[in-house]
Amino acid sequence: MKVFHCDHCDGLVFFENIACVRCNNRLAYLPDLEVVGSLDPLDGGVWKSPLPRADGRTYRLCANDTDHNVCNWAVPADDPNPLCESCRFTRVIPDLTRPAYPPAWYKLEAAKRRLLYTLKAIDRWPATKDADPDGGLAFEFLADPADPTAPRVLTGHASGVITVNLAEADDPERERRRVQLGEPYRTLLGHFRHESGHHYWDRLVRDEPEKLAAFRGLFGDERADYGEALKRHHAAGPPADWPERFVSAYAAAHPWEDWAETWAHYLHMIDTLETAAACGLSLRPRRADEPALKAVPDPEVGSFDRLLAGWYPLTYALNNLNRGLGLPDGYPFVLPAPAVDKLRFVHAVVRG
Ligand SMILES: [Zn+2]
Ligand SMILES: [Zn+2]
Ligand SMILES: [Zn+2]
Repeated sequence: MKVFHCDHCDGLVFFENIACVRCNNRLAYLPDLEVVGSLDPLDGGVWKSPLPRADGRTYRLCANDTDHNVCNWAVPADDPNPLCESCRFTRVIPDLTRPAYPPAWYKLEAAKRRLLYTLKAIDRWPATKDADPDGGLAFEFLADPADPTAPRVLTGHASGVITVNLAEADDPERERRRVQLGEPYRTLLGHFRHESGHHYWDRLVRDEPEKLAAFRGLFGDERADYGEALKRHHAAGPPADWPERFVSAYAAAHPWEDWAETWAHYLHMIDTLETAAACGLSLRPRRADEPALKAVPDPEVGSFDRLLAGWYPLTYALNNLNRGLGLPDGYPFVLPAPAVDKLRFVHAVVRG
């Protein structure tokens, strides 16, 4: 994520902000300019950005912002769609008459916007289902039915539709599931990144014979029975040697899950490296044998090996800082060599 400044007062602002805490000006993310900017009202719900780059452009606020306070992205004023570029991907929203659901919906949309931001950063912005019914992407945010005997909503992906169970936005419930499943890392953003991986496997690997062959060489044969593999994983757990081969225990369940976990990890890396680079972070230890980082590599242009060389010292610092605060590791992963090779493959597919 980039670092943003209010273009009205120059104060520091963040990706999710809707108003500047310093000058109180209205803020919105302007997807066409890829910045959070201040907005000045014109007539009829139309806004103008004072940025020179926005000269001649006018905006509306996304209808999910004005009607539901779950968005902070602007829409070009002449766009007939009342929803922003992010919200138009969501085709099912929860029942907003239930008091707990609007705040949960906000969290899902906020995580989704971060996913989309990084997909844009790697030049892989998806199509909507409206624009491309077969190859497009859509999201459905569903709550479990009230009837406890009815089937639960499964977070997952099928044919370009990412379903997220609203309960994942409930922190105690997600934490309960994380502990129950023995996962060191479970976040909403992680879910979005993981499920998007399944979509991009269909888009970038499935129909490309050469890439598919390389995929099978690294991840295994995805034609192995998926349902059986998941059943086995949930019943018996991952193989004992999974840390030597996979980025996470769940990645060991099936080659598709390995890809999705690796893809999500790649997006974690890209976004965190971008943030660190934007903050001007560097590490200059007093002893030569400690991790050093002169400058964080720019994830938009770096080779995979350069990204990785910047990544290790960054995660060392991140975890050490968290431990200083008594928090669990921000980066609870160890990358074995085969997982690094898989990440390199994801990088090649993304940039290919
Ligand atoms: Zn300001
Ligand atoms: Zn929106
Ligand atoms: Zn999955």
